[in-house]
Amino acid sequence: MGNKRVLVTGGAGFIGSHLCKRLLAEGQHVVCLDNYFTGSESNISSLLSNPCFELVRHDVTVPYYFEVDEIYNLACPASPVHYQYDSIHTIKTSVLGMINALDLACHLRAKVLQASTSEVYGDPLVHPQREDYWGNVNPIGIRSCYDEGKRCAETLCFDYFRRHDVDVKVIRIFNTYGPNMHSKDGRVVSNFIVQALKGEDITIYGDGRQTRSFCYVDDLVAGMISMMQTEKGFIGPVNLGNPGEFTILDLAEKVIGLTRSVSKIVFKTLPLDDPKQRQPNISRATRRLGWVPEICLAEGLERTIDYFKKVLV
Ligand code: NAD
Ligand code: UDP
Repeated sequence: MGNKRVLVTGGAGFIGSHLCKRLLAEGQHVVCLDNYFTGSESNISSLLSNPCFELVRHDVTVPYYFEVDEIYNLACPASPVHYQYDSIHTIKTSVLGMINALDLACHLRAKVLQASTSEVYGDPLVHPQREDYWGNVNPIGIRSCYDEGKRCAETLCFDYFRRHDVDVKVIRIFNTYGPNMHSKDGRVVSNFIVQALKGEDITIYGDGRQTRSFCYVDDLVAGMISMMQTEKGFIGPVNLGNPGEFTILDLAEKVIGLTRSVSKIVFKTLPLDDPKQRQPNISRATRRLGWVPEICLAEGLERTIDYFKKVLV
């Protein structure tokens, strides 16, 4: 397992920083590439003194070259607020970023794992979502820059496998949370925890009856590394997420309870195309990777609250 050279694009982001840390702990040499659009050096500052860690500031839309055995392609803003900020650059990041990762992998005969998303299912009409569901995605809406960019990236993975025999892996990540989320990230778990700790109103968009399934980041990272180790030709896609399904209202109440907050819940306009329900079917991940998430929502929230208590002081 040890002594591989591994590139993590988006390595200074929330999930990327946990992945870099875990790979280093396993004895790999890690090259972390990021343009710091939503990531930050503070996420990986504890890794900088490790001689097996290299940090590169670069944008994945521009070709790059590093001699590596494996590429985890995570570079892409993941919060709706940030991926809609410069929607055209978001598409370029997914599509050109994927082409650049795949061209490098093709040249080096390296493996590539693409961090795809449950958003490829759009506002799903099949529930829970299995990998053979093709999704219900609006191609021209405000979320499309992310959803369609990620769908195109998946297509590229399968075509590079078929045409160039590149060893590709596709995982579809469902809502993941934990320490190192940016306090102004805009996603629901970090928003609610920060609001609760500051005693500010908890902002529920819509009536709060929409559902999501929340996976703690350590569980996700274990699944990602297992997927990279599967045999050549097993591409997936594989759903990685925690099947526990909660309404956004449930989440708000849990966060208020765990933080013993005085915050009040307020209701705001639901953003366009916001999916009504989301829950992964993880039977493929369990069968092929032996993977099941171990950390329940209450436990994961406690750990994330502890993190935000430290960074908000
Ligand atoms: P994040 O925003 O914290 O991390 C993304 C990282 O990519 C950041 O460090 C950012 O600076 C970097 N980045 C963005 N555009 C770049 C570019 N053009 N060039 C180089 N670096 C760039 O988000 P995250 O939650 O850690 O997500 C990581 C990956 O996982 C993303 O690809 C995201 O789409 C995918 N994903 C995440 C979730 C989730 O719930 N967290 C769910 C589904 C998919
Ligand atoms: N949401 C909310 N309040 C917030 C942030 C998000 O009610 O402050 C809702 C959002 O409308 C969506 C759900 O929580 O229904 C999850 O949103 P997030 O942006 O975390 O992820 P995604 O919509 O991409 O699953």
